[in-house]
Amino acid sequence: MATDTKKDYYEVLGLNRNATSAELKKAFRKLARKYHPDVNPNDKVSEQKFKEMNEAYEVLSDPKKRKQYDQFGHAAFEQGFGQGPGTGGGYGFEGFGGQGTGGFQARGFEDIFGNLFGGRAAGPMGPQKGEDITYTVEVDLEDAIFGRAMQVDLQREVNCAVCGGSGAQPGTKPRTCATCQGTGSISQGRGFMHFSQTCPTCRGEGTVNPNPCRACGGSGLTSKSEKINVKIPAGVDNGSKVRMAGMGAPGVNGGPPGDVYIITRVRPHSYFERKGDNLHSQVKVTVKEAALGEKIEIPTVDGMVMLTMPPGVQSGQQLKLKGKGVPHLGGAGVGDHYVTIHVVTPTNISEKGIELLRELDRMHPENPRQDTIFRGFRKR
Ligand SMILES: [Zn+2]
Ligand SMILES: [Zn+2]
Repeated sequence: MATDTKKDYYEVLGLNRNATSAELKKAFRKLARKYHPDVNPNDKVSEQKFKEMNEAYEVLSDPKKRKQYDQFGHAAFEQGFGQGPGTGGGYGFEGFGGQGTGGFQARGFEDIFGNLFGGRAAGPMGPQKGEDITYTVEVDLEDAIFGRAMQVDLQREVNCAVCGGSGAQPGTKPRTCATCQGTGSISQGRGFMHFSQTCPTCRGEGTVNPNPCRACGGSGLTSKSEKINVKIPAGVDNGSKVRMAGMGAPGVNGGPPGDVYIITRVRPHSYFERKGDNLHSQVKVTVKEAALGEKIEIPTVDGMVMLTMPPGVQSGQQLKLKGKGVPHLGGAGVGDHYVTIHVVTPTNISEKGIELLRELDRMHPENPRQDTIFRGFRKR
């Protein structure tokens, strides 16, 4: 394609030369909605515009290529420019304009179209994010409250060391699929009734691999066990997800790697019961302590604290220790600690004790059951 007949990439996208990447993406999406071949079947003008905008986006969305373009214009991407043919871009850049529609299925295209049309566009696989890996770790309540740095053994897929992830035996290369001419899809029907189908030969990849790498069987990936450092944040509960960006499986075709999600399970504790970010515990007190409302020592997550009971506290009543619970995950604030009082009835009481209890009863003749209104069902 002759340099002088090509439109300026910025002009194609309707942008000025210092447009940000966000503006670039926005302009591209807007034009793509307008000129996409699915929207304009058999429209040669739209098809040409669509091709131009894709080419422009391909260059301008890549900071390195954009810089070259700013400096040298279209000449930057012509055969023989700079380091010589074949080395430019590494992304099939030389093929632009030569392969028909297949030529513009380039980097940046797939992800943007995935969003635009609610699914993957038909075509060879663009850059794809690597798979996410989930991993469950069990932690103690203490670690859930205070957070903890730990190491986990993570089994994950990495690029095969022998083929570098290409899946092809070293010295060989995957070649363009003959069935679909590298587009990854085959078209059926015509006009409005046409639809595309994933190419059965290459399963949408656009390439076939006649000499698969013997080390990885052509997948380009090998499994590797690795110790990774995980920081469990304070406040995790059963099922909390800790995201570790970029630690997952490698991306496909230059896409970003996936993420690792650490799912936490918190072991039950012998003393505390957790309900959300509140903790619950039980404490036994004597009749005297409950009646007089004495101070008792309570174990909390922050050590022993003195709890002053109100005089006359009842068995089963809950008292709150504010801020002695679990911190809210990823936010400010802390739950509370609820202490349930259990009044212990004295047993094996001495003669003197019995006398004193009777004396106490005479001084406090209230009937604790006077508000019980249920008198039983009918006679059997
Ligand atoms: Zn391999
Ligand atoms: Zn194919």
